[in-house]
Amino acid sequence: MKVVTEISALRACLEETRRAQQTIGFVPTMGYLHEGHLSLVKKAKEMTDLVVMSIFVNPLQFGPNEDYSRYPRDLERDRRLAEEAGVDLLFAPSVEEMYPVPVRTTVSVSGLSEVLCGKSRPGHFDGVATVVTKLFNIVQPHYAFFGQKDAQQVAVIEQMVADLSIPVTIVPCPTMREADGLAMSSRNVYLNPEERKQATVLYESLQKALQLLKSGERSAGMIRDTMVKMIQEKSLARIDYVEIMTYPQLQPAVILKKGDRICLALAVRFGHTRLIDNLIVTVE
Ligand code: AMP
Repeated sequence: MKVVTEISALRACLEETRRAQQTIGFVPTMGYLHEGHLSLVKKAKEMTDLVVMSIFVNPLQFGPNEDYSRYPRDLERDRRLAEEAGVDLLFAPSVEEMYPVPVRTTVSVSGLSEVLCGKSRPGHFDGVATVVTKLFNIVQPHYAFFGQKDAQQVAVIEQMVADLSIPVTIVPCPTMREADGLAMSSRNVYLNPEERKQATVLYESLQKALQLLKSGERSAGMIRDTMVKMIQEKSLARIDYVEIMTYPQLQPAVILKKGDRICLALAVRFGHTRLIDNLIVTVE
């Protein structure tokens, strides 16, 4: 595995791949890798000839009071895990390499960016869309792999790629979970033992919602209320949102009908840690 930190070096490495008409798969991450990230690499290896992973904690997508400076970082460990997973090329640029001058250009996907996480994280998805556009221009991959764990991010990126005719195919990949159901996240390391224990309620509430749907409940409000009650029973949980939205349009769902594709989405704080999770289901 090659590790490069400069855009020009990455482009030089990929020139030969392109000349040989090999396909390039791209897995963008913020590092502190876990099985969720590595499942994207696995999928990329199945579908493409050469896998590029980026590790970049993007300051543009963090709000002023968020965890940018304390976001977990360990490039040595990430390098080892990426290599073991079969990444061919690891791109780990500095902030100065990515943004040598203050950015004056923003990619903004209206309608999808202001709801759910966009409400409590204003500007977050503009930061994501801008850095992903930049990374797509740098790597020019044929396929790019994103986790459904960040379902809103997938919706934003797919809309952006369609709107701007970016020549890449987005491949959404399933959420990897711990044995007790908690969605894997680099931020899980922030949780103390009691918070970690209580955080299993997130997946449990999604499973409960699924059960209600399967037993014929069609009121989104009723399903949502049940989830909220379950989560509120945990003393350390502070709900940011629990929503049932159409997917990928991200409009509020009211009465569910057969064939509707919906996203059951939530964000909940445990102490200083904000966790998100979701399920995407088609109503039967
Ligand atoms: P991050 O480093 O958190 O920005 O995530 C990089 C990529 O990994 C994004 O496409 C995420 O959606 C994806 N990802 C993060 N956690 C998981 C998970 N538990 N399962 C699958 N994909 C994930």
